[in-house]
Amino acid sequence: MIAIKSEKDLEMLRISGAILAKILRSLQTNSREGVSTSQLDQLAGELIKKENALAAFNGYKGFPANICTSINEEIVHGIPSQRKLVEGDIISIDLGINYQGYFTDAAVTVPIGKIDAKKKKLIEVAKAALTCGIKEARENNHLSDISHAIQSHAEKNGFSVVRQFVGHGIGKNLHEEPEIPNFGRPHQGPVLKPGMVLAIEPMVNLGTWESEISDNGWTAYTCDGLASAHFEHTIAITKEGAEVLTDFTK
Ligand code: MG
Repeated sequence: MIAIKSEKDLEMLRISGAILAKILRSLQTNSREGVSTSQLDQLAGELIKKENALAAFNGYKGFPANICTSINEEIVHGIPSQRKLVEGDIISIDLGINYQGYFTDAAVTVPIGKIDAKKKKLIEVAKAALTCGIKEARENNHLSDISHAIQSHAEKNGFSVVRQFVGHGIGKNLHEEPEIPNFGRPHQGPVLKPGMVLAIEPMVNLGTWESEISDNGWTAYTCDGLASAHFEHTIAITKEGAEVLTDFTK
């Protein structure tokens, strides 16, 4: 069952999403050469606390940090460390918060200084793939219309989409039904209804879609060592279409 959120729930999720967006924007501007991912994690912790929210990932199935930081060939679930960002890196920052029992989740991939043309295009395409997916998140469409739009956009630009990790329902829990793959045929799966809240999160790779998990049990990376980009928004389906709850560009 995909939960339908009440108007009151949506009000709370808007607040949660706005807080998350503000924090993610700050993490984005602080991602620069010489900064370590654990410094970003610490900053995230301080900002989350200041907003009276909780870091939804911290302790989730034992995850040991506030945010996920995934650099270059790392796809998702990178663990913050002493590793410092260097020019030419791309870093995906994934943040989930719990504000008074209301969860939102978003991710952004940030270039560090000057990056090569391929990585630049990868970031653009991954970001646009998310936009394509969100456009399909509307009343009476099927769930896989989102998946199909994401895959089509990534592949038509010569990139691949990760199969092992998927988007998800969200709201009163970090992960709710349904799972939202970033690939698939259109017009499959549940019909979308107003009040559904979804975290849509394409992971787009320069090379192969195949991934492996590192020895730390968390960090997923591409099998060919080529870069990966990740964008995510929490959205609510309304009568008027998708409402992005975590818009950090505002
Ligand atoms: Mg997510």
